[in-house]
Amino acid sequence: MAAMIAPENTPVWVNTSRCKACDICVDACPAGVLSMKPEPSSTLGAMISIIAPESCIGCNECELTCPDFAIYVAEKKEFKFAKLTDSAKARQEAIVKNGYRLPEDYKEAN
Ligand code: SF4
Ligand code: SF4
Repeated sequence: MAAMIAPENTPVWVNTSRCKACDICVDACPAGVLSMKPEPSSTLGAMISIIAPESCIGCNECELTCPDFAIYVAEKKEFKFAKLTDSAKARQEAIVKNGYRLPEDYKEAN
């Protein structure tokens, strides 16, 4: 298998051909970076989406918990990650409560 090349200046990225839309990484993320989006062509009708890359803290939870090795996190020495903020935590709570999707009317708390 060829090594995955990290996209430049990107904290977290997905190989969508491997993702089976199981929600596990969305549940594991503490910062509301990930969410599911509707995707009619996928088996489960959903696909992973990186909705707030600027909030990624580089904790690696998504990469560690993905059963399909479909999500990747940049190396700490190559990317300066954000700190965990209250608004990131609030977004994560809203995503989990809404079945792993960002509520349509969601407004960022400041
Ligand atoms: S590295 Fe951590 S904060 Fe970033 S997307 Fe993965 S779980 Fe979320
Ligand atoms: S844990 Fe892996 S397979 Fe499941 S939704 Fe996330 S990226 Fe896709």
